[in-house]
Amino acid sequence: MFQPLPDKPDHPSLELEILELWEREGTFGQLRERNSGGPKWSFVDGPVTANKSLAVHTAWGRTLKDVFQRYKALRGFDQRYQNGFDCQGLWIEVGVERDLGLNSKREIEEYGLEEFARRCREVVVRSSAELTRGSKRLGQWMDWGNDYFTFSDTNIEYIWKFLSIVNERGWLYMGHRSTEWCPRCGTSLSQHELTQAGVYQDRADPSLSVRFPLLDRPGQSVVIWTTTPWTLPANVAAAVNPDVDYGRRENGEWVAVQRFPDDTFVERVRGSELVGLRYRGPFDDLKPGSEVEHRVIPWDDVTMDQGTGVVHIAPGAGGEDFELSKVHDLPVLTPVDESGRFYDDYGWLHGLSTTESADQIIGVLSEKGILVESGLYTHAYPHCWRCDTPLIFRLSDDWFISVEEIRPKLLEENAKVQWVPEYMGKRMDDWLRNMGDWNISRRRYYGLPLPFYPCSCGHLNVVGSKQELGERATEGFDQLEELRRPWVDRVPITCEACGEIVTRVPEVGDVWLDAGIVPFSTLGWESPEWVEEGYATGAAHGLTHADLPDHSYWETWFPADWVTEMREQIRLWFYSQFFMSVVLVGTSPYKRVLGYEKMLDEHGREMHGSWGNMIKAEDAFEQMGADVMRWQFCAQPPDRNLLFGFGPAHEIRRKVLTFWNSTRFLVDYGNIEGFSPSWSQLEPDGDLRPLDRWLVARTKQLVAETTEAYEATLTVDAIRAFEAFVDDVSNWYIRRSRRRFYSFDEAAFRTLWYALVQSLRAVSPMLPFLTEHLWRNLVQDGPASVHLAPWPEAEEPDRALLDEIAAVRRVVELGRQARSASQLKHRQPLRRLVVAGAAAAARGHADEIAEELRVKNVEFGEVEASELRVKPNLPVLGPKLGAALRDVRERLQRGEFEELDGGRFQVDGHVLEPDEVLVERIGLEGWAVASEDGVTVALDTALDDDLRLEGRLFDRIHEVNVLRKESGLEITDRIRLWVPDEELLGTYADRLAAETLAVAVAPGDLRIEKA
Ligand SMILES: [Zn+2]
Ligand SMILES: [Zn+2]
Repeated sequence: MFQPLPDKPDHPSLELEILELWEREGTFGQLRERNSGGPKWSFVDGPVTANKSLAVHTAWGRTLKDVFQRYKALRGFDQRYQNGFDCQGLWIEVGVERDLGLNSKREIEEYGLEEFARRCREVVVRSSAELTRGSKRLGQWMDWGNDYFTFSDTNIEYIWKFLSIVNERGWLYMGHRSTEWCPRCGTSLSQHELTQAGVYQDRADPSLSVRFPLLDRPGQSVVIWTTTPWTLPANVAAAVNPDVDYGRRENGEWVAVQRFPDDTFVERVRGSELVGLRYRGPFDDLKPGSEVEHRVIPWDDVTMDQGTGVVHIAPGAGGEDFELSKVHDLPVLTPVDESGRFYDDYGWLHGLSTTESADQIIGVLSEKGILVESGLYTHAYPHCWRCDTPLIFRLSDDWFISVEEIRPKLLEENAKVQWVPEYMGKRMDDWLRNMGDWNISRRRYYGLPLPFYPCSCGHLNVVGSKQELGERATEGFDQLEELRRPWVDRVPITCEACGEIVTRVPEVGDVWLDAGIVPFSTLGWESPEWVEEGYATGAAHGLTHADLPDHSYWETWFPADWVTEMREQIRLWFYSQFFMSVVLVGTSPYKRVLGYEKMLDEHGREMHGSWGNMIKAEDAFEQMGADVMRWQFCAQPPDRNLLFGFGPAHEIRRKVLTFWNSTRFLVDYGNIEGFSPSWSQLEPDGDLRPLDRWLVARTKQLVAETTEAYEATLTVDAIRAFEAFVDDVSNWYIRRSRRRFYSFDEAAFRTLWYALVQSLRAVSPMLPFLTEHLWRNLVQDGPASVHLAPWPEAEEPDRALLDEIAAVRRVVELGRQARSASQLKHRQPLRRLVVAGAAAAARGHADEIAEELRVKNVEFGEVEASELRVKPNLPVLGPKLGAALRDVRERLQRGEFEELDGGRFQVDGHVLEPDEVLVERIGLEGWAVASEDGVTVALDTALDDDLRLEGRLFDRIHEVNVLRKESGLEITDRIRLWVPDEELLGTYADRLAAETLAVAVAPGDLRIEKA
């Protein structure tokens, strides 16, 4: 006996039951046990930042990881299931700062770095527990409890080792440059951090044109344009494009002619003629400005896109400006400190922030009479990715890894990686070609301590391990709780060159070093022995039981066969681990990547907490269920943004319900008829009808298609294959076989059971809960879990048979369309259907088509009863035909075309493919026509008295069925029936009785009674 199924699945409660069942039976453990020693498939998890609970966009990535790990497990692959948490860096720090109400680095230092570090760790403890809970609820099977945490001492030591190798190769250096800087966080940011989602936001800034009076030419001035008034006090030069024309207005202002085409100019010169002129700076009354000789310099990169064609140059507050200062030997003024406030030698500006100062600066320029124009300017401006503060440029000393020497090798290795979708690999290639040196230092607290100990003798000491630190320490090694600030700052060492005592630089590392080292640190690269819980060191102690494996383990599992993350990780995690791996061992750390675009809400907007359109994973679990979420994730083509929401979830539930109903149909009738299938005789044999053989072939096709989809790591194809299959089972097989289930036709039961069971296996990686629930009901003598049944063997299905039924279904579908276009009820029988075009395979199934469409005759031949209209499909045909399109369009309109086979058309020597044209067939009087992909059907819509009477018969059957349902009768209950239509009873009494399970039919007001 099967367990009766309710009308519809209650996803959340069913899922919680399954989770408990898996837990109780140790299903995941059994799976790993079974696959242990099998062929290896290596997956390395990209760490999730442990500063929050599970979000739906994280659930997307986790679902994909889980799907492919499950699929590979079904195929018998031995795998690692280590989950990772990212535990350091700005994300963690900013949360703690907010919780503690700290607003600056000074306040953090006053609060105390020990306590601050402990609070940061607490965030990770809390968040990692939440993320684990959410991921389990999602159905993700991981080795929970043996996770890696990037703040472990072991992880840090691995990065130290990497940095010391980089130093040995001579690639490590300290750079002095103007870089993007967050004044709130008090640190510079690297190029790749600016590529993260949400960094560039539209923002309105002051837009002002300012006149710089020329000292050598009284009454004349150059006019510059800027959106950052705060940089004007640091101005040292004005740049012109030497090859462009500049004009002098009547009032003496020089601007680029091209920028003001409507202005009148009294003099015109090439930019090169303005070079060298000296001018009075806008803030020469302040000390820093007064010491500068301002002059006009040439710069080829001055563009004519915006502004005045004269660019204000402040090398202490702009990246390109700083580069120019080296070329032209310009002084560099640094106007603001780490927190973005003016230094005290800037007089009345002292202490003001870059934004606070804007209005006052504009006011002063106006008083001085040199402000030409001011307004607002909206542009995409970079913001700090963690605290949303607008970034500024600031001079900073940062540590860099030079990339020039290794760049060719990086490109070479990336070319060997298989990227899905392919264009993401090109993006990586593009990034690798164009990226600058890697800025690895951050002036923060809770991060990887950079092991750099510069000495006044000129030698840079780089410590490669904790052991080395201990050996070289002069004091403080005993108090080292963790390899972290502030403890590590209290351990000075001796300089290996001169013996002096040296201290660590205060900087911490870029967080992407933490995640990038994972393919080495978690797999035990160069680790001489296996250390139990060797990964649970430092801050990770007590949080995980992860071991530090030995080097042979690394050799077994490196490189990863597959990794997956969002597209933005190309320049982040995909990059950092790739870079580190090519440096350390000369190869990519992964063979294959699946990247995917980003998640938006169902209307295509970004999800924001403050916009109220953010969906919490917790709410999604409760209102959709994990399987429906997973379906939504899996159905998404990776090259497009996912529009996630409750609306799409509703659609998915409808699709799930169709599958559920098919299963319920088998369960209900199976129980009535005592059907008892056996796992040992999975595939039906014996006396199969053509339709049964078709469903068997169709099922094999599903297995083949999903296998191919999983192998290509494209879940979207697996979902599409499943959707089409569900439709075929429900709307063709069951529809056409219903009666065989009313009387016990074992072949039908066995065929449907086989189809359902195999399809559960095929989609179990994507929908682990629903499939498990139904599996346990349908398969009572097989493997206890669908996840323990091996992957079904892909067999070549009977293609000819599949094509045949696909053609039949197409004809029937078109017949239905024609019928609805004609407004005739589907129940009304019709005389004739004509099928034309590429549907020859359906010829042998005329009876089925007739029955489905309720027509008396189906003929294959020419459809003359219609007018054909063909229009160009412009988006497709336009690019193909170019200028010829117009002529083709006109010819089509005039009907000057020839219809070829397969839905193609010929027009004036051009052959148009089916997807290049839009075909419409208009039925002539008395015909309803529908057409698609080269198949056309025409329904004769003429009615006579016989057809009308038969139409009434079907109306009555329908009414009786409604009555049966309303009276709560069982599907097998027999009835007595009264019908008012004597003419109908005269002709169709027997058929009416048979169709309604009536034991007696009599004239009278319409009613039924249980017999
Ligand atoms: Zn910031
Ligand atoms: Zn020294």
